[in-house]
Amino acid sequence: MSLKPEDLLREEILALRPYHVAEASGLVKLDAMENPYQLPDPVRSRISGLVAGAEINRYPDASAGALKARLRQAMGIPAGADLLLGNGSDEVIQILAMGVAKPGAVILGADPSFVMFRMIAAFVGARFVGVPLRADFTLDRDTILGAIRQHRPALVFLAYPNNPTGNLFDRDTLTRIIETAPGLVVIDEAYHVFAGESFMPKAAAYDNLLVMRTVSKLGLAGLRLGLVAGSGEWLQQFDKLRLPYNVNILTQLVAETVLGEQDVLEAQAAAIREERGKVFEGLAALKGVSAFPSRANFILFRVNDATGVFERLRQRRVLVKNLHGSHPLLTGCLRVTVGTPRENQTFLSALSDCL
Ligand code: PMP
Repeated sequence: MSLKPEDLLREEILALRPYHVAEASGLVKLDAMENPYQLPDPVRSRISGLVAGAEINRYPDASAGALKARLRQAMGIPAGADLLLGNGSDEVIQILAMGVAKPGAVILGADPSFVMFRMIAAFVGARFVGVPLRADFTLDRDTILGAIRQHRPALVFLAYPNNPTGNLFDRDTLTRIIETAPGLVVIDEAYHVFAGESFMPKAAAYDNLLVMRTVSKLGLAGLRLGLVAGSGEWLQQFDKLRLPYNVNILTQLVAETVLGEQDVLEAQAAAIREERGKVFEGLAALKGVSAFPSRANFILFRVNDATGVFERLRQRRVLVKNLHGSHPLLTGCLRVTVGTPRENQTFLSALSDCL
């Protein structure tokens, strides 16, 4: 048989580079913005009981009612906003993109930003317009408003704080975007617990605003649970695209329970925020390193020979993310996730040996 993928698949899919997940076994894993802390033993024991008792012979609650009620309370979802849940916020992005993907539809985002915005646009056959950030990674108001006027995107994705740069875009600029965009604007607040700023209170105030969150950076990345809050009129339509039972029973049970432990989650987030300050100071003290201030649980920094430093760190069993070559503004850039105090020390001392 001589049929080849090129004969059948869409060009934009053939052209995609797969989302790369690095092999990390045995390494100090500081590449993926995970929370480094496990839950306390009593909470883990409760999880064991929940998992043991779960009716895994049945399909999960299709509407995830109990989990949604918990999320409303834990994440301060305004009363007038509806919720849609996904298997990670990646799936939420995909559902939203699928919904708007008419022929010729445009999805617009800042550039550089979270790579899945661009990739998922390709998955659904939409055209992605990336609006370049300034060299200091701020968003130029006139540039983005001009691009929105020109391309009339069905969806605008803005990560707040932005990944991989770690900064919060100017709030007034985002408000102007929401107020003037002809389509939907999604504010992606994946790193909200580290930022102390949010559009969630506004989720019911604008018809075209959707606010997205995830539990991944709270310490629950393995559960795969993301959500978007916004107008019911819109979310009821997008809900038709959600596969039935996309949030499995174990995720529903465990997330509902752990999200009830606000004190534990907040203490972990506070420890990470404090360590972020120390890692930043440690980076700033190193000659040949320039670090960018972050409101997330990771720090972007620039070195002379990023790929060499990345490899030498890996030889010292420390894994970070190499962003060099992924975008012109990220030339020489590596991104480190804030870990435990000990992991951060290991990272900083390995880095000073690698420069
Ligand atoms: N949005 C942003 C800005 C992210 O950085 C990430 C993950 N790196 C996601 C969304 C996806 O998160 P999830 O684990 O919920 O799919």
